[in-house]
Amino acid sequence: MNERDSEAVASLLRARGYAIVEDEALADVILLNTCSVRDLAEQKAIGKAAHLSKRKRRNPRLLVGILGCMAQNRGADLLDRLPDLDLVVGTQKFHRVPDHLDNLLATIKGEGPRPESILDLDAEAGSQNEIRGHDHTEGAPQISAYISIMQGCNMHCTFCIVPKTRGEERSRPIDDIVREAEDLVAHGTREITLLGQIVTSYGRREFPMVDGKTPFVQLLERLHALPQLHRLRFTSPHPSGFKPDLIAAHRDLSKLGEYAHLPVQSGSDRILRAMNRPYTRDTYLRLIASLRAAQPKLWFSTDIIVGFPGETDEDFAATRDLFREVGFEMAYLFKYSTRTGTPAAELPDQVPTDVAEARHRELMDILEKRSLARHQQMVGTTEEVLAQEPAKRPAGRLMGRTRGYRKVFFDAPDRLLGELVQVRITSATVAALHGEVVTNG
Ligand code: SAH
Repeated sequence: MNERDSEAVASLLRARGYAIVEDEALADVILLNTCSVRDLAEQKAIGKAAHLSKRKRRNPRLLVGILGCMAQNRGADLLDRLPDLDLVVGTQKFHRVPDHLDNLLATIKGEGPRPESILDLDAEAGSQNEIRGHDHTEGAPQISAYISIMQGCNMHCTFCIVPKTRGEERSRPIDDIVREAEDLVAHGTREITLLGQIVTSYGRREFPMVDGKTPFVQLLERLHALPQLHRLRFTSPHPSGFKPDLIAAHRDLSKLGEYAHLPVQSGSDRILRAMNRPYTRDTYLRLIASLRAAQPKLWFSTDIIVGFPGETDEDFAATRDLFREVGFEMAYLFKYSTRTGTPAAELPDQVPTDVAEARHRELMDILEKRSLARHQQMVGTTEEVLAQEPAKRPAGRLMGRTRGYRKVFFDAPDRLLGELVQVRITSATVAALHGEVVTNG
């Protein structure tokens, strides 16, 4: 999400005549786009901003800004802590960055006093429609691109800061999104990932159901019909958003591939209730079963938080058992991070760090064994791979993804970038597959 927001801001700045430099040391303006989901992300951003403030004292013409969730979450307090910041821009104001910079630069040019810091954090109606610009570079198409389809989240999980930083759910019109996708595809994009804090809620209050289908599935169908698009993905969904129409989409829309991300967070009903996750272990497992029935080849991934306040050994055992039972091939495993202002921050029985560490390690071990075993089973099979980008090294090697979204490295010429290629898998590690092209599609 942040990558996409940053890319859209960069696109607006380029359109305004700014140039993006590769080397931070050469920049006249440095903007940090920030995340607040866990404390570590905020600490890193604050550390970086403090470092830049020092540089600014040596070079008063350098402009430094903080954008996004941490700006929204901490607001004016950030300026108290880092008084040298020039710009603090919230999550509904990304598109205002060029105007703010123009104003700051105009003041500096006049050799006047240091410009006043700008703080722009208000909600703005329609801001979800502003993250839409992409830059098309000649010769190097963006094979895999993101489209932001909505902003905000109304789920109110008790651990989560996102409703505070991103506001209420607001969706973009289907036609606008389709136009953005058509433009990307015309410039060589072959995989689109739809983005939102809670994509499965897309348009549920703004747009009607059609033929029993939710706006999200209507959108998927429209995009699936784009002839040159090979793959269609989305993140992040909520398990409760997988209604029959979305389950059927995993059977009927082949471009969705064989992959589903279903953040479960915990396998204990008690903890799920405390997290305000509106499903139980049992309904979650039944959802996995329905998806498997619709599309037997699906690879599943999930998000899990260990160490949520009050999580006992028994609760954790339930999570571990569910984790084993589903057999996730991928997972994002997190240690609970207290977010001030969320309901969970007020709960008693915060779990000691070493206990959370140990639980995290245990799940990591299960995941690594499982991923390796599944990858090794693929050796000798032939997979449809979207050739996405040149591998970092050696030259002549490409990186692509299987229909199950596994990373594959294989030797092939750059002209195959953006193509669906048949690759025979020859070896496997925990993190990736290696293979050779059997036909060049
Ligand atoms: N919208 C998605 C979550 C996106 S945030 C959903 O509702 O499922 C990505 C992940 O970060 C979450 O799924 C959760 O596992 C993790 N996360 C969010 N808040 C957290 C916190 N306070 N501490 C640790 N992990 C957290």
